[in-house]
Amino acid sequence: MARAVIVGGGGAGDATAFALRKRGFDGEVVVISADDDRPYDRPYLSKEFLRGEIDAPKVFLHDEAEYAKERIELRLDQRVTGGSLSERKVNLAGGGDVGFDFLVLGLGGTPRRLPEVPTAQNVLTLRSLRDSRALREALDRASRLLLIGAGFIGAEVAASARKLGKDVLIVEALPVPLQRALGREVGEIYARIHRDRGVDVRTGARVDRWHTEGDRVTGVSISDGTDEDVDLVLVAVGIEPNLDLPKALGLALEGGGVRVDEGLRAAENVYVGGDIALHQHPVLGRSIRVEHWEVAKGHGRGIAASIAGGHAPYSKLPYFWSDQYDVSLEYRGHASGDDTAVWRGDREALTFSVFYLREGIVQGVLSMNDAKTNELGGKLIESRRPVDPSALQLADLAELVGSPAS
Ligand SMILES: Cc1cc2nc3c(=O)[nH]c(=O)nc-3n(C[C@H](O)[C@H](O)[C@H](O)COP(=O)(O)OP(=O)(O)OC[C@H]3O[C@@H](n4cnc5c(N)ncnc54)[C@H](O)[C@@H]3O)c2cc1C
Repeated sequence: MARAVIVGGGGAGDATAFALRKRGFDGEVVVISADDDRPYDRPYLSKEFLRGEIDAPKVFLHDEAEYAKERIELRLDQRVTGGSLSERKVNLAGGGDVGFDFLVLGLGGTPRRLPEVPTAQNVLTLRSLRDSRALREALDRASRLLLIGAGFIGAEVAASARKLGKDVLIVEALPVPLQRALGREVGEIYARIHRDRGVDVRTGARVDRWHTEGDRVTGVSISDGTDEDVDLVLVAVGIEPNLDLPKALGLALEGGGVRVDEGLRAAENVYVGGDIALHQHPVLGRSIRVEHWEVAKGHGRGIAASIAGGHAPYSKLPYFWSDQYDVSLEYRGHASGDDTAVWRGDREALTFSVFYLREGIVQGVLSMNDAKTNELGGKLIESRRPVDPSALQLADLAELVGSPAS
């Protein structure tokens, strides 16, 4: 009987396991995860779970009984450290090998650390359920949270902490929040959103000095010349993709990930998905690596389809969202910084979309509180046909999407 070994019990790994069964794969399915919790919904960890609005079991992706019913063997708290593709086996950190016919890697990433930040009891990072529990408990006791970094995790935790009534200070090195992911102009809007809701946002700034008492940080001196007291710190400056295992297996590494083909295959019968996959996207026509939940889950389903039904391209467009306060962001496709941006809607009212075009073809669409436009934008991206930028601003988009190619 064929055995599929899935290393990583996150978005990509868990989706692969269940989709294999849905696709009729009848062999063994084994999920090996370094996490000591069974797979959970990671996006909740900076939002509803952190704020105490949902708890276990809702945070878990499946009941324990579902794994048994689908004959998915979950091996938690076990780390794979190496293996041999030619011998078709992986090695466990605690000793022993696991043989495979198909290998799937969905390893995610590890929060990046900054060497200048002291190791202290109240300096945390956020990636796992365990991290979120620790942050939730610490927030309970804290009154002023310092966030280092205003990417998605920093911005979402800021919004959650404000909702819990905490004082929040953000120190971000770049000129605006979320600049790397969303660009300068949208980042400016996010700076306003957070400031309007009481967050002290210091951009273009760094911490020059850390003040500690015992094993706790008590305050910081910021490069803008101010000193601030804080009683909890979250370092949220992105992740390092977990590439030690792919490297040990001799897979091709590139662009911070593992290079995979259009069907997410890294080598014969070896598939890679989620945050660590540098995917040659068949619709967008270029290699992309995306650190988002729906992409990871979609990869899992695509990998399962290839294993169960024969290798095939995975063509779903990247999609992600971020909820902060009452502001809902959605993004489809994948744009680059030098694409032309065409705005539609009302920035002041926080109801708008931005289309990103290259050579007249829509590559990505970002929407704030504008879900319908985002959905239609996705169809324009998939169509790969040139559109008139002014039509994107003015026309009835449903008509534009439905109109014959020019
Ligand atoms: C707090 C938080 C909030 C987020 N919110 C959003 C959001 O709102 N929207 C959005 O689109 N995205 C969000 N994301 C991003 C999203 O969760 C990730 O992109 C997604 O989880 C990636 O899935 P993955 O399967 O690649 O990795 P992960 O979900 O990180 O899973 C990786 C798994 O691999 C295991 N592992 C790693 N190495 C080994 C090894 N050697 N041996 C065995 N197991 C190993 C890990 O323990 C883990 O179980 C959020 C992320 C975080 C941390």
